[in-house]
Amino acid sequence: MSAMIRFHNTLGGKVEEFIPIETGRVRLYTCGPTVYDYPHIGNWRAYVFEDLLKRFLKYRGFNVLHVMNITDVDDKTIRGANARGIGLEDYTRPFIEAFHAERDTLAILAADHYPRATAFIPEMAALIEILLDKGVAYRKDGSIYFAIDKFPSYGRLSRINLEDRRPGSRGDSDEYEKDSVHDFALWKAPKEGEPVWETGIGPGRPGWHIECSAMSAKYLGPTFDIHCGGVDNIFPHHENEIAQSEAANGVPFVRYWLHCHHLVVDGEKMAKSKGNFFRLADILAKGYEPAEIRFLLLSTHYRKMLDFTEDGLRQARTSRNRIRNLLFELRHIERDLPEDPAAARALETARRAFVAGLEDDLNISEALAAIFELVKGVNILIAEGRLGSPDARKVLAFIEEVDTAVLACLAGKPGDGAAAGDIDTWVRDKIEARQKARAAKDFKRADEIRQELAAAGIVLEDTKEGLRWKRIALPKS
Ligand SMILES: [Zn+2]
Repeated sequence: MSAMIRFHNTLGGKVEEFIPIETGRVRLYTCGPTVYDYPHIGNWRAYVFEDLLKRFLKYRGFNVLHVMNITDVDDKTIRGANARGIGLEDYTRPFIEAFHAERDTLAILAADHYPRATAFIPEMAALIEILLDKGVAYRKDGSIYFAIDKFPSYGRLSRINLEDRRPGSRGDSDEYEKDSVHDFALWKAPKEGEPVWETGIGPGRPGWHIECSAMSAKYLGPTFDIHCGGVDNIFPHHENEIAQSEAANGVPFVRYWLHCHHLVVDGEKMAKSKGNFFRLADILAKGYEPAEIRFLLLSTHYRKMLDFTEDGLRQARTSRNRIRNLLFELRHIERDLPEDPAAARALETARRAFVAGLEDDLNISEALAAIFELVKGVNILIAEGRLGSPDARKVLAFIEEVDTAVLACLAGKPGDGAAAGDIDTWVRDKIEARQKARAAKDFKRADEIRQELAAAGIVLEDTKEGLRWKRIALPKS
């Protein structure tokens, strides 16, 4: 695998060859959750994209060092804690726990470090002190601001129009719109109802942007390979991160900026007021599997708008079941046939197209198409009676390999939807339970188990060799 990997770099706006700073190693930073609430499905879209990126880089043999921050102090967390009349830590804890639990549910690999802003105050203060010393930051009424005029390349990432800004105009809020380009707060003066830290630069609390500059430098160094986030983060957050880091360290901050597009629901922007606001739990409650949700979040290219619909979820289920049915079939082929060159060709083509697709700026559509082409080809070979055990094992091993390493959404829990994954154990257990029920003359229970098996597409047959089972058809999805 010597072909090159290309990514679309927001910095410059072009697709570029990916060359890590250190051969074989990728330093990755992804902006994490602001834990003032539970994550919504749009947040998960970004995190699943980042997971695909990371898993693919690992699959291609890179050693990936991944850092994701947790923003546990900012305007929103403070507001939320005050509204509930509890401390910041008590307020954010359940949201941090929920984030990790849901991350596990969606099979997102854990980062190497999850630094929390409140645990990084000294590092942030030290960084702000450097900016003050260099004259790119200034004090005003107890707060400290970054002077964007002192950083000539400000605006390079987002390509914002700097013409309209009023020199010296300042803003204190952590998030602001593109049309208000101004000096931003690095450190906020003590204020009634806000937490205060005593530091070398004075008392107060950090602005939002500074944490990512401080944390990334600590774990990944002043220059690292990839920084990700949603398109919402480009301005002002990432623009400000660049300004802080490069002004302080005097070296380029990040080589490749990858941003994923928005998620909309039924073509509309998610909003609690519209009733189209979903969290992971809401989708699970509708009866969809985590892997089906991951499949849907994954299957639209990260730079395209993802329209999250119930129809999309159903399609994800159908697509996924098509693959899982084949996996099931492959596990049960016991046919002593020589290897068929057609099987080897189909497998080789799939392997190459899968990798080539993802190498091309994570083109997931091509990568998934490669798997579906393989499924189609192998199903034909099975129908023609040409697929023997050795070929079956190889195809199975390939699909399991890319699923375990990269996709993490094809295999499923036994008995979930169509027969798949580790179905053998599940079926064996059911059959055993049924035999026991029959032995105990509990024919009602035995019949229930038989029906359960039938619902999963499993029929039992009494043969000369004893009880056998086979899959007949897909249950309706
Ligand atoms: Zn950030």
